[in-house]
Amino acid sequence: MAEAVARTIAEGGQLVAEAGTGTGKTFAYLAPALLSGGKVIVSTGTKTLQDQLFNRDLPLVRDALKVPVTVALLKGRSNYVCHYHLERARLQDSFASRPDVRYLKRIESFARTSESGDKAELADVPDNAGIWGQVTSTRENCLGGECPHYGECFVMKARKDALAADVVVINHHLFFADVVLKDEGLADLLPKCNTVILDEAHQLPDTATLFFGEEITAGQLGELTRDAELEGLKVARDYAPLPDAAQGVAQTLRRVRLAAGEALGKQPRAEALRRPDFVAALDALAVALDALASQLGRQAERSDELSHCAQRATEAVARLARWRDGDDPEWIRWLDVTPHGWQLHASPLSIAAIFARQITDSVRSWIFTSATLAVNGDFTLYRRELGLSDAATGCWDSPFDYARQALLYLPRELPQPNSFEHTDAVVAAALPVLKASGGRAFLLFTTLRALARARETLAAALAREGLDYPLLVQGEGSRSELLSRFRVLGNAVLLGSQSFWEGVDVQGEALSVVVIDKLPFAPPDDPLLAARLAHIAREGGNPFLDYQLPQASISLKQGAGRLIRSETDRGVLMVCDRRLRDKPYGRRILDALPPMRRTRELDDVLEFFRERSPG
Ligand code: SF4
Repeated sequence: MAEAVARTIAEGGQLVAEAGTGTGKTFAYLAPALLSGGKVIVSTGTKTLQDQLFNRDLPLVRDALKVPVTVALLKGRSNYVCHYHLERARLQDSFASRPDVRYLKRIESFARTSESGDKAELADVPDNAGIWGQVTSTRENCLGGECPHYGECFVMKARKDALAADVVVINHHLFFADVVLKDEGLADLLPKCNTVILDEAHQLPDTATLFFGEEITAGQLGELTRDAELEGLKVARDYAPLPDAAQGVAQTLRRVRLAAGEALGKQPRAEALRRPDFVAALDALAVALDALASQLGRQAERSDELSHCAQRATEAVARLARWRDGDDPEWIRWLDVTPHGWQLHASPLSIAAIFARQITDSVRSWIFTSATLAVNGDFTLYRRELGLSDAATGCWDSPFDYARQALLYLPRELPQPNSFEHTDAVVAAALPVLKASGGRAFLLFTTLRALARARETLAAALAREGLDYPLLVQGEGSRSELLSRFRVLGNAVLLGSQSFWEGVDVQGEALSVVVIDKLPFAPPDDPLLAARLAHIAREGGNPFLDYQLPQASISLKQGAGRLIRSETDRGVLMVCDRRLRDKPYGRRILDALPPMRRTRELDDVLEFFRERSPG
């Protein structure tokens, strides 16, 4: 893989590289990248992986190769303490909570001593603490060159360092927001570099869809009306039409929610607009927003904040009109109804053309890598999604001995996966396996409904059997909290949905079983997916074979990939979907999984756990 990466860096073009767990793919791209002598951007999926790469992997490879490259870490601006807003927060004496007062003191002393101002370095203050919003900047409220703290500003320093460094580590959100969409004045970074390496590249189609699309939500507009009212109270108390206009928007937001109906979930725009009361509510919202925008516009000179609110309102008016009346067939629009709110979304039917333009407009080399990009070595789906028609591809298999280290268990006699009894049957089939493994399991579900049901039945079954394995359930604590408790407890059972499938790394015995309830086909009632499938059919393709099947296959491979993380890990993957046996496509999915020993017999599973784990 390192040779293929080196070739791509030297010759230009694109390489899509699938590297199985344990291949050392990070080293395989870092070594040639550091030796190439050019400027390199490495982008990864999360801030945690970014920190890991910057603090652990990069120094290791750099020292081993003894190359004098300079490296920099760059995150979005909301990650850095802002001296200006910190000072304002200090002068303000009303804080939402007592911990905020304590946190503020810590942040102050951190800002005095820290080199980077990166909040990830301040473990004392939780990442989601409300105070962060007051002591960091946004693009809109940053004073830039006018700022009295410009010379010592952490954001500016991080950007300057990034421009000067040979290797810059960023994340995909920053990549799309700043580097591709040129949203934060970082446009200088990409043109300067020769190579872009995108790790965890399987996330790119979704991240790109998010960034290339647009949305307007009840939450956003509610925030806008609150900000407008508060700022109005501060600087335009004498101007009554402003709070009236804000109230007008707040009322229509509720009216839209009522008109959206009781059925939660997504519906295509055409369906939503068929209801006259919903159309009337949207019209009323448009009128109210327009009125707010013009009242704000009249008072905009009174403060930067009011002028910013005016701009937000004007943008919202335009976005709402685009959602309501836009007729570009290349854009898909839908309504998402949540218990207390609603969202209007618009996404490009395909991101391939937009993304490919970014890639082909430039002369640099692009490396896309992840453990899961292909189905049996076939990259068609991934290349089509991102428009990478000319990319070279390569697969490097995991060095793990799956036949010895892992067992794939497909229990017999399960009901149809869409039947009512299915979740209970999954729990019943998993129970003896959990007993044999002593807990230490992930149970992963394709829907939240199945997850809730399984939680109930499993808790009852464990109590009945007198088993005291702690149950950790997604949603009852943050993801990182749940994972660290899982590691420490040593006999826990974690119930999660698809979002748990990704990026989780639990090495060793703490995780010995992964149970997957159903093949993870994306729900076809999702309007964007439905439109994409219909598009494939119109083009003469087969939506199931060309999209749904490879996508589910890759997704299952990700779930399975949680199990064996090192050469000494052992474990059982249990997939409770009879379609793997009953349907002709089942074999294709099974063959795309790592080469584990397969069984349909519970006895084999019990025997597997009786064997002593080597090492
Ligand atoms: S320049 Fe912007 S980010 Fe930096 S300290 Fe000033 S306001 Fe904050």
